[in-house]
Amino acid sequence: MPAEEKIIKLKKILDNCVLCPRACRVNRAQGELGFCKLPAKIIMDCALAHHGEEPPLSGHRGAGTIFLVSCNLGCVYCQNYQISQSTEGQKLTVEQMAEVMLDLQKRGCHNVEPVTPTPQTPLIMEALVLARAKGLEVPFVYNCGGYENPEVIKLLDGMVEIYLPDFKYGQEDVAVEYSAAPGYPRFALASLKEMVRQVGDELELENGVAKKGVITRHLVLPGKIENSKEVFRLIKKEISLNVPISLMSQYSPPPKVRRHPLLSRRITPAEYREVLDYALKLGFRNLFIQEVNEYELTPDFNRENPFD
Ligand code: SF4
Repeated sequence: MPAEEKIIKLKKILDNCVLCPRACRVNRAQGELGFCKLPAKIIMDCALAHHGEEPPLSGHRGAGTIFLVSCNLGCVYCQNYQISQSTEGQKLTVEQMAEVMLDLQKRGCHNVEPVTPTPQTPLIMEALVLARAKGLEVPFVYNCGGYENPEVIKLLDGMVEIYLPDFKYGQEDVAVEYSAAPGYPRFALASLKEMVRQVGDELELENGVAKKGVITRHLVLPGKIENSKEVFRLIKKEISLNVPISLMSQYSPPPKVRRHPLLSRRITPAEYREVLDYALKLGFRNLFIQEVNEYELTPDFNRENPFD
């Protein structure tokens, strides 16, 4: 199906929104709001060259990160809550968003990477098609929370070069308790399967910079080691051991959970090590790992390329 036809289908979803598993079925084109509280418009916080992503994404000149407001998840511990829990930002037309993408390319960024595009997917993809027609050549990175509608992901086939989904929960009860996201493991798994079907489970690199593939992110949460292990078990059982996984240690309690019995602390080095050892024991090898220091848990992605 040509990209233009896919955009028409995607935009039609806004009339009865099922862009994500919440399936609010509101008419966003008519101003009705669902869980994400977003109208049928592009609303951006900022766009910048990001040097803190995984090395194949940031490269030497940065990932072209476009922070979009709001989110379809409701994580109580959100690490990016100032942007993801707000609907305030710059309202952009499709043409203006295409210019943002082209400008990131002009600034030398290795890719363009909208963050949490899920609720804004139709217009972001329309902007991408326009930007491609105007000379955008760098890969498009779909950086999402993993709570995706696999049918929507299917419509992105051929337009996305790199998928960067979270896989936050292997355990349903944790997904419901922490993110009000029923069915998360099932939807994340089906979406990841479709992403891998489209772009493969090998990360294609050129001079250490990603050109095509998937990187799945998993943030280890304090006291929820079994949840993390289940993520690896599911990916091994249902998809493949090749899927590159970024195992993140940087959880830091935001003000909202400072008194939470589990979420009020950072993870310990032992917790991170236990999850990492488990993944290695299962046979995962394409892992991006971070350092976890006993005294100061500072995220520091390996600067070494683990695929060399
Ligand atoms: S994108 Fe927003 S309105 Fe649409 S189903 Fe998801 S949460 Fe509901």
